[in-house]
Amino acid sequence: MKLDYMLFSAPNIVDKIKWTCNDCGQPTYTDGKTRMPKKCKCGNKKISLSDPLIMGGLYCWVTAFREAGGLGVMKATMAREELEKFDIVHVNVTPGHYSYVPQLREALGRSSSTKLIANVDYATTLWGNTDPFILKKVLEEADMVFHVESSGARRLSGVMGKEIHCIPHPVDVERLGKLKVQPSHPAVVTCHFHRYWGTWAPYYYATLNLRKEFNLRTMLVNVWGDSPIKVSLEAYFDEIVGNTNYMEFMQKVMAPAFANIDVTPDITYGRGIVEAAALGIPTIGANGIEAARTIYPELVVGSEEDNEIERHLRRLITDTEFAKIMSDQGIERCKFYSTKNSYERMVKAMEETR
Ligand SMILES: [Zn+2]
Repeated sequence: MKLDYMLFSAPNIVDKIKWTCNDCGQPTYTDGKTRMPKKCKCGNKKISLSDPLIMGGLYCWVTAFREAGGLGVMKATMAREELEKFDIVHVNVTPGHYSYVPQLREALGRSSSTKLIANVDYATTLWGNTDPFILKKVLEEADMVFHVESSGARRLSGVMGKEIHCIPHPVDVERLGKLKVQPSHPAVVTCHFHRYWGTWAPYYYATLNLRKEFNLRTMLVNVWGDSPIKVSLEAYFDEIVGNTNYMEFMQKVMAPAFANIDVTPDITYGRGIVEAAALGIPTIGANGIEAARTIYPELVVGSEEDNEIERHLRRLITDTEFAKIMSDQGIERCKFYSTKNSYERMVKAMEETR
């Protein structure tokens, strides 16, 4: 079954899709509203998605459904006739946009075959300003609810009185893996800045000695591009996305890095760690980040534990065998988050909800 998928969102990705024939290499172009071409002009039926590389996370669901042969579209519409063209309409629920799910339900009615899926886009540490009563009422309007990491899924299960699935958003690990390069000299360590927490201090203090000792460079990442940054670090995520060239960021900033550090003092999924893993870059990650615990349990640290971060980073620099093991482990374990595995998790969760 080919499922047609719509992410309820402003379309902030290119709609032109390039497919390449696995046999003759000829490209075929479609838009997001056209299914995967059945065969190449040469007659070969094995044809695969080449472009675009859509950033990991929420937007990458579009890729996951396109790859499975259905439509993958981003659109912000409440028109019933538009919504009903899809099997799935997916909404990312944030406390600032509670009305989307009930509004979409009103547009679709209660007996539509189009399934309304909602994921709660809020780390559990930030739930202090959500109203549990409103949250429950809003989510009851969806056919299926999920959360991207397990502690949020558990809390939601309690709120909703039923099992809420933990389904991390996909990362296109296969295509990202092709961008892998040798680390640059001098070695660069990428440090993930999180706007809610202003996470720069542990990176600075933990690498203070190592930067001098090994001529190490650190780079605070999350907003990057050739054009001047037009948004403040307090911006909304979609503004950052709009100002970041994902391919350029992955190729020029992330891929040549030697190691990555992400010590957000938060309870999160950790998409950035999965992306780094796909590039063969090990991450020293905070214990609240689920992907850090899953991919690199050996490198898990407390958020502000400068000494632990320093100890792990020193080991990665001085013990090349250990660094290689960590890099290989990441390349292997990140496959859990692939578009294909994510798609299968989503479809299974939908079937169980029925
Ligand atoms: Zn061909």
